[in-house]
Amino acid sequence: MDTTTLATSFISLNREYAKGFNAGNLDSSPAKKCAIVACMDCRVNVERMLGLDLGDAHIIRSAGADARAALTSLTVSQHIMGVEQIHIVKHTRCGMQNDANDILRKIVDSVKQKKTSASEAEIAKSLQDMSFRTWDNLEAAVESDVEAVRSNIATVASVTGWIYDVNKGEIRRITETLPPIEMDKSAEPDAFGGQHGPQKVFLTA
Ligand SMILES: [Zn+2]
Repeated sequence: MDTTTLATSFISLNREYAKGFNAGNLDSSPAKKCAIVACMDCRVNVERMLGLDLGDAHIIRSAGADARAALTSLTVSQHIMGVEQIHIVKHTRCGMQNDANDILRKIVDSVKQKKTSASEAEIAKSLQDMSFRTWDNLEAAVESDVEAVRSNIATVASVTGWIYDVNKGEIRRITETLPPIEMDKSAEPDAFGGQHGPQKVFLTA
């Protein structure tokens, strides 16, 4: 489907959606006080597979359900929108379950094919600051992301890790619902009073 056709279909399908729309009064804070970190994968229908309705949850999606990349959104979720539970859901047959170098190689090759004026070195340099977090063990990746969120200084919510099976449509809990990890008070604090403060914070009086 070309861009114009797809855009036209978006408009007509949206008009149908808007005709039956009756959720204009929903609160912006999630009714179920939860945030879901999920992969952007097109086979993963977060709302349907977890029985969530409009207004129930924050859903933060990225390649590989990268919880570290979701920390900014999760901080807003917890401290402005009242979220008390964070659920990290990775899935089987994920495109990020790969060697990071393979993914980078594919990106460089693809860009080079489409932009013949770009050199491989230029493309590689532009990708340097992007983080492509890949893994080879799915369960270990879930556990690692759960710990990364729990140990973030801004985390006050409980954190749970899951795997969704794209073949069966089933979720499986990988970690118990765990409280945030308390900071080690003896460690050297950074300028904002914690070891894991955000790298860029601009506070003005
Ligand atoms: Zn994925």
